[in-house]
Amino acid sequence: LYVFDQQLIQSMKVQSTTTQQDGRFLISDYDYKSTNIEKNGDKYIAKPQITSFKFKTDTRIPKVGVMLVGWGGNNGTTLTGGILANKFNITWNSKGGTHQPNFYGSLTQSSVIKIGTCNTEEVFVPFKDVLPMVNPCDIVFGGWDISSMNLADAMSRAQVVEYDLQQKLRPYLEKLVPLPSIYYPDFIAANQGDRADNVIPGDNKLEHLNIIRKNIADFKQQNNLDKVILLWTANTERFCVEDPNIHGTAERLLQSIESSHPEISASTIFACAACLEGCSFINGSPQNTIVPGVIELAEKAGVFVAGDDFKTGQTKFKTCLVEYLVGAGIKPKAIISYNHLGNNDGKNLSQESCFKSKERSKKTCVDDILESNKVLYPTEEELNIDHTIVIKYCPETGDSKKAMDEYIAEIFLGGRQTFAVYNVCEDSLLAAPLIMDLLLLCELFERIQFSKDASEYQRFDTVLSWLSYLMKAPKSESGITTINSLSRQRAMLENLVKVCAGLTIDDNLRLEVRYG
Ligand code: NAD
Repeated sequence: LYVFDQQLIQSMKVQSTTTQQDGRFLISDYDYKSTNIEKNGDKYIAKPQITSFKFKTDTRIPKVGVMLVGWGGNNGTTLTGGILANKFNITWNSKGGTHQPNFYGSLTQSSVIKIGTCNTEEVFVPFKDVLPMVNPCDIVFGGWDISSMNLADAMSRAQVVEYDLQQKLRPYLEKLVPLPSIYYPDFIAANQGDRADNVIPGDNKLEHLNIIRKNIADFKQQNNLDKVILLWTANTERFCVEDPNIHGTAERLLQSIESSHPEISASTIFACAACLEGCSFINGSPQNTIVPGVIELAEKAGVFVAGDDFKTGQTKFKTCLVEYLVGAGIKPKAIISYNHLGNNDGKNLSQESCFKSKERSKKTCVDDILESNKVLYPTEEELNIDHTIVIKYCPETGDSKKAMDEYIAEIFLGGRQTFAVYNVCEDSLLAAPLIMDLLLLCELFERIQFSKDASEYQRFDTVLSWLSYLMKAPKSESGITTINSLSRQRAMLENLVKVCAGLTIDDNLRLEVRYG
């Protein structure tokens, strides 16, 4: 079933003594340069060191299936329709003319990586061409929704995609109907009840888990897939009341499902089903789906979990702007973020319990950036800046979310600098390409192993924090600090694929053009 795409590998060939192709594996040696810091009284002793790593990438491209929870929502329909438009090169007309499909907004498909210098010119290639990656147009989509609408009608309901494109996609999408899903009304807003006409009956949570597991196994078998990835893009749930006795270990979690404990959310059932079926699970909403018991299940199954909450517009900008200010030695003192939106996500967030989940993930996104600078923030108290999040549901706005942010910073000699940022865009047109990146990168990372000092190869940690560039509140492996800075998150991803391909990481000194 695996397709080895020679073309992809040949679009850029690395000639180096530290990189070899061993059958289907690409193996690269990498000398990791880091600095170990010791504290001596009030002084730091810095000891630079080099550790030898090997990275081994399986270059076979698998046939991948993706199951979306919330397939009939704005993100689910925009992603599925957008990929089909690209796959069949469907053009559409608006009053502005004829439009071609593209993958703008996708890190893997539409951004580039510098691979080196040709004479004095820098050379860039698409991100997706550095390592063999799945073509998004080859992904088989499936999934669940509590609403029974087929994807063509659901796309019309979403009001995201241009009318003419909706019409052209209709023949493809009307055949796609979400599977019935698990619906625990207590976890999402009461106002969602009127669309819940496609639910798995009963309140036995173990039976629900088993049905979802069977759905995954059937989907894999019927579509002849090598692997399946699950992604939650359903409504934001309230946080479950986390308790080590209920969620703390894999065993307790499964017992709690068996006893249909009220604090087991639908999203956690999906995460468990994914792990038990050997599939990685990505959480695109802010709630605490990935409880410790899920992580243990994933670890045992050798799959990844990643979360939480897609980092699309406002938060991406926020982590950039705050990084710029703090990096420039300017002290942010207040961030006030207003949003108003009129899509179903906004409707769901108008219930306080669901809003609280969102508020939490939106608020933590600059913490580590502020904490890193003890010159600006010498005390805990000063770190406690005014960071306010307001979200209002305004149906007239549709999916065209308005985000208004005011940043107030302290500059030289007690002066003030204020930024007012107004961001308008279709939320799902940002989220869909980002979801695609999450899936493609998660799949790629399932094919990478690494080893230190010639010891045995191991896979990445179960909690895939490599994907943090795409997540508002990135989940990290225990004991590892979360990094929110967008430029560091992107550099991390770019450097990883370069290292795996045997390319040199760029330190931006550009000595090859400066010397001589
Ligand atoms: P949406 O409301 O249009 O879609 C969610 C879908 O999930 C709906 O069709 C709903 O019927 C379905 N659903 C609800 N509970 C379900 C369940 N238990 N099982 C299966 N389906 C269920 O919302 P959206 O705009 O597509 O956003 C989806 C999620 O992504 C939201 O939680 C949102 O907060 C999150 N998110 C979106 C963005 C963005 O930019 N669009 C950014 C970050 C996070």
